Amino acid sequence: MGDAADNRGPGTHARGIGVSPGVVIGPVFILASQAVTVVEQSLRPEEIDHEIARLEDALIATRGQLKAIQADLGERTGGRDASILDAHLMVLDDRAFVEEIITKTRRECCNVEVAVRDVAEDYAGMLASLKDDYLRERVADVRDVARRVIRNLLGDVDTALGTLTQKHIVVANDLAPSDTATLRKDVVSGFATDLGSPTSHTAVMARALEIPAVVALRDITQRVRSGDIVLMDGNKGVLIVNPSPEELEEYGALAEARKSIERGLNSLLHEPAETPDGHRIVLSANIEHPDEIEAVLQHGAEGVGLFRSEYLFIFRGAVVEEEEQAVAYTKLATQLYPAPVIIRTLDLGGDKFYHNGPARQETNPFLGCRSIRLSLQHPRQFKDQLRAILRASATGNVKMMYPMISNVDEVLQANELLAEAKQELRAQNVPFKEDIEVGVMVEVPSAALAADVLAEHVDFFSLGTNDLIQYTIAVDRVNERVAYLYEPTHPAVLRLIKMAVDAGHAKGIWVGVCGQMAADPVLAPLLVGMGVDELSVAPQAVPLVKDAVRSISFEQSRALAETVLKCHSGTEALRHCREMVRAAAPELLELV
Ligand code: PEP
Ligand code: MG
Repeated sequence: MGDAADNRGPGTHARGIGVSPGVVIGPVFILASQAVTVVEQSLRPEEIDHEIARLEDALIATRGQLKAIQADLGERTGGRDASILDAHLMVLDDRAFVEEIITKTRRECCNVEVAVRDVAEDYAGMLASLKDDYLRERVADVRDVARRVIRNLLGDVDTALGTLTQKHIVVANDLAPSDTATLRKDVVSGFATDLGSPTSHTAVMARALEIPAVVALRDITQRVRSGDIVLMDGNKGVLIVNPSPEELEEYGALAEARKSIERGLNSLLHEPAETPDGHRIVLSANIEHPDEIEAVLQHGAEGVGLFRSEYLFIFRGAVVEEEEQAVAYTKLATQLYPAPVIIRTLDLGGDKFYHNGPARQETNPFLGCRSIRLSLQHPRQFKDQLRAILRASATGNVKMMYPMISNVDEVLQANELLAEAKQELRAQNVPFKEDIEVGVMVEVPSAALAADVLAEHVDFFSLGTNDLIQYTIAVDRVNERVAYLYEPTHPAVLRLIKMAVDAGHAKGIWVGVCGQMAADPVLAPLLVGMGVDELSVAPQAVPLVKDAVRSISFEQSRALAETVLKCHSGTEALRHCREMVRAAAPELLELV
């Protein structure tokens, strides 16, 4: 037996990184690989019409996805490769193919996934036996189309998850943000993964969905079996297999103590984020979906400091057209009004892709065609988004910002497209806010170092520390093997933050922080002391950060910043921050 097996069984303690808070206990469900598997089912005759309707929906969804990929391909290659998916679309539109699937479903009373799989295989087999080269090449197209239709029938999540009827703790090697986005809270009480890190977008999703999660458990998929009972602490990053009664009692008491601290923090709901000596900062929320507005207000945030618009695409699994984006942004603007919402333009790439989206192979995706780079390479699609944001600006307090800016030319190009989008709307008499505030995210060292230049062209900065840390220390934010190097208090990171804040203020613009660093109550006072004007955090972190801000005077925070900026190591800097919070608000250390 190897190490993994020796470490298995009752009493196993696994330590990883807690990325979404909460203590949960329940049976494990091991999520196997994401390969498409079809489970055969016998249906009653009266269920068949519903089955056919599911097929028609899946065909429509598949068609939309193929069209979106085709449009994207066409744009990226100047129309050259736009016909590449025509053969796929022809398979989909082949009524004889579809009728055969329907006939088989009715005749055999099987689930439609089985009929798609079998009819497609027959079709592919028949094509493969032909002499015509062109037709033989269609075999792969038929199989690919069938796989896409089946994935849509299965809701694009692992098939097995759909079979869960009671709450489980999902254990997987890794989950993509798009997989996490589809987890249903009624059957998933928490998740634990071998891989991952606190600022991966999977962790961001877990916090948004308020699902407790522990990542970077290395080999947890080898150490538990489906059905094992585990206790998972998303605050401390611990997972205990088949816990003893004492452990259950201990964690029960801990969870109760945390709940009571949280109840205490809720009394701050209507209080401002103001230091005891009267220094006011803006405390906003980061969200990924318009449905989170309720959570924003419930937790006492003053608006949305970061709307990650790319999740519209990730939730949909396809390109979202201008009209639909305008509806989503307008919902945000009107429901939050008069509070502001900052819509970040698409930040796709890196670790964020949508299923069925364009090809994603890049050797270094975080250094590749990500974010604003991708948007500027697809100007038509980018302008669709800009017009949608502008349209929403007529209905509320909308601001916008560009992610991952690394030089001033990107800002100028994006602003030029924004000017064109405005001109198009003017020509159509569509209302929008002419002087909409436009900011940039400072999340690449080059942007922080040249912040004085960038500040000339924008109305605000929002510091994306999740990326700023990864790019400054050269530590992949989603790689658990180097997670120990990921230090928000690294002297180089702190100097860049200070540089950006000072450069922004020197040019008269405000500066916020929307990375995970702002959500850590141990680090928020330091950011306040460095002069940051706005902190934007996951909704559930708002009360903690508010408590931290209200517990430490601005004078103390400034002194802390001065001391910490002289530290030679991240560990030493962190120690100073913890000491200050321990003295002023010890209850917060229980929660982090
Ligand atoms: C960041 O990088 O800090 C940020 C807020 O953006 P994201 O986490 O979406 O990359
Ligand atoms: Mg970022």
